Parts: sequence; structure tokens; C-alpha cells
Amino acid sequence: MTGSCILVETAKTKFIVDCGMFQGSRFAREENFEPWAFDPKEIDFVLLTHAHVDHCGRLPKLSKDGFKGKIYSTPATKDLAEIILLDSAKVMKEEVLRHGGPILYKEGDVFTVMQQFWGLEYSVKQKISGDVTVRLRDAGHILGSAIIEVWVKEGLRTKKIVFSGDLGNPPAPVVRDTEFIDGADFVVIESTYGGRIHEPSEMRSSLLRQAVLESIGKGGVLMIPTFALERTEELLYELNYLSETKQIPKVPIFLDSPMAINALDVYRRYAKLFDEESRKRIESGDDIFKFEGLELSKTSEQSKKINHVPAPKVILAGSGMSNGGRILYHLKLYLPGAKNHMLIISYQSEGSLGRQLRDGAKKVMIDGQPVGVKAKVTAIGSYSSHADQPKLLHWLKAVASPEPRTVFINHGEPKSNLMLEDGIRQKLNLNTVIAEKNKVYEI
Ligand SMILES: [Zn+2]
Repeated sequence: MTGSCILVETAKTKFIVDCGMFQGSRFAREENFEPWAFDPKEIDFVLLTHAHVDHCGRLPKLSKDGFKGKIYSTPATKDLAEIILLDSAKVMKEEVLRHGGPILYKEGDVFTVMQQFWGLEYSVKQKISGDVTVRLRDAGHILGSAIIEVWVKEGLRTKKIVFSGDLGNPPAPVVRDTEFIDGADFVVIESTYGGRIHEPSEMRSSLLRQAVLESIGKGGVLMIPTFALERTEELLYELNYLSETKQIPKVPIFLDSPMAINALDVYRRYAKLFDEESRKRIESGDDIFKFEGLELSKTSEQSKKINHVPAPKVILAGSGMSNGGRILYHLKLYLPGAKNHMLIISYQSEGSLGRQLRDGAKKVMIDGQPVGVKAKVTAIGSYSSHADQPKLLHWLKAVASPEPRTVFINHGEPKSNLMLEDGIRQKLNLNTVIAEKNKVYEI
């Protein structure tokens, strides 16, 4: 889980798919410093599925350690990756200042690696090296996210490998639905929510409305930890809709995340990639990310002012797993209040503060201080930008003629891997392998 990085070696080419950062517990973070299982100088190119830090977060280190090739992604992924990587460099710098220790990379390394990006549009088949051809398809996970189809030529034969990247959870506002892929010889599929069934997506709006109304009714503070690139855009879209249709009363809603505010600009730039409904609303003159009551807090001065605004209020801040960022400050302040509410909408990896809270912790440590939890903590799974097991199986089932000879399961916690494997074997009768770290598979 997290730290996604797959090396593919053909007769003539060596490339990697994604180069993510390990996240969550301290142990996971230390894994980022482990030596590469390959020589970065020998890698011809990188294929990047999307801009989440667990997929792109070690790219600057890869480049710093000698990788000179191109990084292929959609142009939207490139623009979002720049924001994500700069933020990641900044967060690490602050951590090193506070706790000491080595730094993975600096801002300058991010600027260097950004020069290596090369944009590929969706649906265009492109030869990348002597024996490798690729095509990106919309994964519907976040803006710019891609499923990657790879054709490897071996003499007269061609083998097709499909890398799912992270698959979306359609129908979702803003992003388009996940594309289906025709046949593949091998599939590498993510299993983040491979063991779960989300509540129906129609429930997202009503659960959100319920949480907003409840905390507002009590005069409390609603805190929603968000990843700038997870559901912030969708959340604003929903809040905008609920507010404009007068389903929720007017309360101040703070987006307290410079990174999310920057990401919104990128979203606006690539509105052509939105789903039909969002495009229609934009054409009719609605700014889908702007409404009365919404305040963007970019500077830390603006952020501090949020506390002076009396409740009820809604605060959206990063990070999504509550293991860093401005949300920590708000949690420290508002978790002890019984009227307040923390609403979790993203994946929470093992060991993260968000996971402890989701699992019902009554006391947590924030910045070395014990904080009692009296606030209500709830989670909405349908907000997830990841497909659940039925959707993963539905997508995999469509990969037919040829149907995959082997499905490699990766990027999930051990339990999710096993449950997805079970589902694939029982419902689709396909051959499966749960990928292990640093293990080599010949295909
Ligand atoms: Zn992702």
C-alpha cells in the first residue's frame, strides 16, 4: 500500500510505472529512503498514472539519483504533479526542521524533474521505445488520471499489459466515468478498496447534507480532512449545489489549503476533461467551485482568522489522512468539543491519525500533545475516489478477448489483496497473483 512503483524489463527497454511515496506510519515514511531495487540511470522512461503522491512522490528522488529519461503522463497530471511535489518538498522541509533527519528531496529537485515530463493525450497510441507502445485511457479517479495500456513487441508476438493505476468510483461529479479496456494478456490492478463495498453513490449528497445540517444545527464545527486532489473539488461541487438549491443554510465554509486552491486552478484549466453535467453547468455560466459563503484561505494569516469566526462553520483542510497539514491545528482545537463533527471522506492508511480517529480513538496525540476526542467522527465511503470490489470486478470483467492470463493485484493492504483475489477467482475465474514487494515475475 502506497509507494506504488512497478519496474518492467523487456528485451530492449526498462521502464517503471509510477514512482510513489510511502505514506502513513513512521515506518512507511522511512521506506522512502531505502535504496532502489534498480539503478535509476538504467531506466529508459517512466509512465505515470496520476498525480497522487503515493504514485508520483518519489519522482524527484529518482531524478536526483540519476534517472535522465522522460516521464509520460497526461498534461493535467503533469500540472497537478507539480503542485503535489512542491507541497511534498515543503512538508518534508518543515518536518526536518522540527524533528531533524535526512531530507528526501528539495524544491529545486522538483523543478528539475518537472523538465522531464512529457504530455500524452488520452486515447492516442504512441510508440515510446523500440519495443514498447502505450496508450492512456481515462481512469475517472482524479483529473488527468489514466489507465495505461502497454504493448510489448517480442519478435513476431506482441503482449499487452494493462496497468489500472487507481480506478475511479463512478458516477462521481466533475470527473468522467472510468473507461473500459478491451482485452489484455496481463493486468496489474489496484486493490485499495478491494475488500469493501461502498454505500451507493447516490447517498453521498444526502450523507454530506446530513453531516452539515447536524453540526450546524448544534452550532458546531464540521471538519472535513481532504486531500487537495481527492474529493475537494467534488465536495465543493456538492456544497455549491446544496447551497444554491437552498438545501443547506448559509454558513461560512473555509477551504483552508493553499494546495487545494492551486489545484482548483488546474481543474478550471482542464474543464474539457470534465463530465458532461459539469461542462453544461459551466457553459450556463455557473462557476462550479464558487458559491456564497465559501472562503479560500491561502495564507497562514487567513488560516488563523478562521478560528475567530464563530461556529457554526465548515472547515475543509489537508491532509486527508490528518497526518500533517493545517487540519492538525483545527483538530487540536475542535476535537475536544462535543458539538463538533469530523467527517472522513478519504482513504485512511494504517497508522495515520485519521485511521485512529475513524477506528474510534478517544484520545490521540497531535504534535506531541494528548488531545481528548469528544467530537463525533463519521466516515462516508461513497465519497471515495476508489472503486470498491464490485466496481473493480465489473471493470476487470470487461477486459475480455483476450481475457487476461494473469491478474496481478497490488497497491492494497494485505487484507484487501486477499479479499479482491477471492472475488476475482470466484466471480471471474481468472488466474491471480498478489504482487510482493521486490519480487520478480516473468510473464
Ligand atoms: Zn490515487
